[in-house]
Amino acid sequence: MFNALVMNKDEESGLASAAIEQMDVDQLPAGDVVVAVEYSTVNYKDGLCLSAKGGGLVRNYPHVGGIDFAGTVESSEDPRYKAGDKVVLTGWRVGEMHWGGYAQKARVKADWLVPLPAGLDTRQAMAVGTAGFTAMLSVMALEDHGIKDGPVLVTGAAGGVGSVATAILAALGHDVAGVTGRPETGDYLKSLGATQIVAREELNEAIKRPMEAETWGGCVDAVGGEMLARVLGQMKYGSSVAAVGLAGGAALPTTVIPFLLRGVNLLGIDSVMQPFDNRVRAWGRIAKDLPMDKLEAMVQPAVLSDLPALGADILKGQVKGRVIVDVNA
Ligand code: NDP
Repeated sequence: MFNALVMNKDEESGLASAAIEQMDVDQLPAGDVVVAVEYSTVNYKDGLCLSAKGGGLVRNYPHVGGIDFAGTVESSEDPRYKAGDKVVLTGWRVGEMHWGGYAQKARVKADWLVPLPAGLDTRQAMAVGTAGFTAMLSVMALEDHGIKDGPVLVTGAAGGVGSVATAILAALGHDVAGVTGRPETGDYLKSLGATQIVAREELNEAIKRPMEAETWGGCVDAVGGEMLARVLGQMKYGSSVAAVGLAGGAALPTTVIPFLLRGVNLLGIDSVMQPFDNRVRAWGRIAKDLPMDKLEAMVQPAVLSDLPALGADILKGQVKGRVIVDVNA
């Protein structure tokens, strides 16, 4: 028997709530590989899944959330993995459609796993987690299209994606400007390597002109909405924005002008369905390019019973950096 944080729906109210329950491996959904989970994390999507209505992501209850985890293979019906292998999982709708990492064991498809890269342990892999993996995919997409001279802007900088993107870009030698709505996180962002802090209010107003001064050589955007619309008009000629998230809204009230007259590239980043080779490449780059002392500075520890409160906090934009959940604590 092992512990899992299970979301159950109350039939009368239609609302779900979480409680720690004991379960058996037989109760886990079908899959080729059973993993003894060591760490999971709290991402924005986890906040949605932990909410009473499941954020539109959870279709069936009871449900075990946790969109990512790292741990050790306990048993495998797939020749690619054997007991004792260290693995990491992000994406594939695990924690949404399929039970995820908020349990001491998980059963998943072998195709969804990635062997832990040399240089990372399971705790560090989850300090990175889905948010950090996505930050790396964003940096790789910007590199593929060429990062121009000038500061690289990171929006939602004090959040999970933003913190890791800031640390990676700074470690690669870029001048990083972090946008935050929390001025008290300025020192934290500078410790990750940001050279400039931009107040959220400066970029949150609706666009008045479709183009402003060419300012940013690239951008990792976790916020979307009016902020992204504004940023598009400030990008340098031929530069790119890696659009990751919508913490500030899904609407994009812009015009075609920055694309036509400045050749700006808007690159959509999806971490969920990345092919295996890209996953391996991104995790390898994380192990190589993300300074581990910076990663440690962005981590706050948690246990399963903390998750409902942390889920609510992340939806309010109140979590700083990355939360790692020790599921065995
Ligand atoms: P976090 O909550 O950790 O970070 C989001 C940050 O955005 C906040 O910390 C805050 O930063 C800022 N923010 C929040 N609300 C607003 C607002 N109303 N206006 C402006 N800024 C705001 O979440 P994550 O970093 O985990 O995820 C960020 C986004 O990326 C989410 O939308 C998530 O769903 C998405 N995502 C997408 C993935 C993909 O595959 N495309 C994968 C992972 C995440 P600050 O306080 O510094 O202003």
